[in-house]
Amino acid sequence: MTSTDLFYIIIFIILINFIIDKVLDYLNAKNYDNPIPNELQDVYDETEYKKSQAYKKTNYKFGIWSSLFSLALTLGFLFFDGFEYVDNIARQYSDNSIVVALMFFGIIMLGSDLISTPFSYYKTFVIEERFGFNKTTKKTFILDKIKGLFMMAIIGGGILALIIWFYQQTQELFWLYAWGIVTVFTVFMNMFYSKLIVPLFNKQTPLEDGTLRDKISAYAKSVGFNLDKIFIIDGSKRSTKANAYFSGFGSEKRVTLYDTLVNELDEEEIVAVLAHEVGHYKKKHIIFNLVASIALTGLTLFILSVFISNPLLSNALGVDIASFHVGLIAFGLLYSPISEVTGLIMNQLSRKFEYQADDYAKNTYKAEPLITSLKKLSKNSLSNLTPHPAYVLMHYSHPTLLERVRNLRKNN
Ligand SMILES: [Zn+2]
Repeated sequence: MTSTDLFYIIIFIILINFIIDKVLDYLNAKNYDNPIPNELQDVYDETEYKKSQAYKKTNYKFGIWSSLFSLALTLGFLFFDGFEYVDNIARQYSDNSIVVALMFFGIIMLGSDLISTPFSYYKTFVIEERFGFNKTTKKTFILDKIKGLFMMAIIGGGILALIIWFYQQTQELFWLYAWGIVTVFTVFMNMFYSKLIVPLFNKQTPLEDGTLRDKISAYAKSVGFNLDKIFIIDGSKRSTKANAYFSGFGSEKRVTLYDTLVNELDEEEIVAVLAHEVGHYKKKHIIFNLVASIALTGLTLFILSVFISNPLLSNALGVDIASFHVGLIAFGLLYSPISEVTGLIMNQLSRKFEYQADDYAKNTYKAEPLITSLKKLSKNSLSNLTPHPAYVLMHYSHPTLLERVRNLRKNN
């Protein structure tokens, strides 16, 4: 195989990915006006339903334009040897391959961030604003960007530098060391994400004593679950959309409720949502997901180690001096069909876990408040009641609202 062959394989993969994605979007959009299933008639009233459809259609059109733009940009970059150009700039400043790699990725990340900012600005301040979701101020938007870039530079840059250093020291065995460091980092982040990262972006306050806390404690006690760390996060700082999640494990486990969720749902519904989250915990989904993602990382790194020393990878992107960092980009592009497949499997599993967590909430608490809370949350985010099955198969990490309602009402 020549580097030209490999170049065209990469182009082919990018195009196929794009086409599959757009076909799925199209199928999904075709179903927007389908009749609402009986079980979900009470989610929206007439005006709200019209609004939710307008929201979906606006996002669909926006998605087409922004993905066409990014496709054109990617192809242009590949056909006009953009990576070679950036690599040469980085090499002007240093001979050290770690420094060159950091500069190379720094330029690419910063460049793509600058180009994508107008799109995220439009999404937040035009689309989300028009439909009443946006609470982000321009100041928060800019600060989020800056903090995000800093975090990426420190964490991403640090891990990349370490991996290249391992590669220099141990050649093809580097993947084992890289896997080790990524695993330690992943577990650490799982444990301390809420303590270390979230405070950079949000305020978290412990849930105050009161009837809600009492109800949560009573439920937790009834299923033998130790739940004393309950936090309210100021999600309303950015959006009216609501959420709740579990994080950490062992003594670090805590539950985080968005203030928007607490305002939107009544106390029984909040307990039902928590019962669902406890279900994930009790059914060991959290540990499973962690182990699965670590195993997948190991597999990916191993495959990377087989190919990374081949100069064909760098040459395929039009870069003459073969290097780890350019090889990494080519590998990422070539690997994307495999990650599509693993993503599909993980989504399938995730949907299964959602049913199990719903069943857990139903069996240890009640089904009805969970149903009404899911309906309220769907309405609150103007979500799609009639998604296309193929779209659900590929993209949904949760079953559809209809499927969940039917499952929760089963044998009741
Ligand atoms: Zn869940």
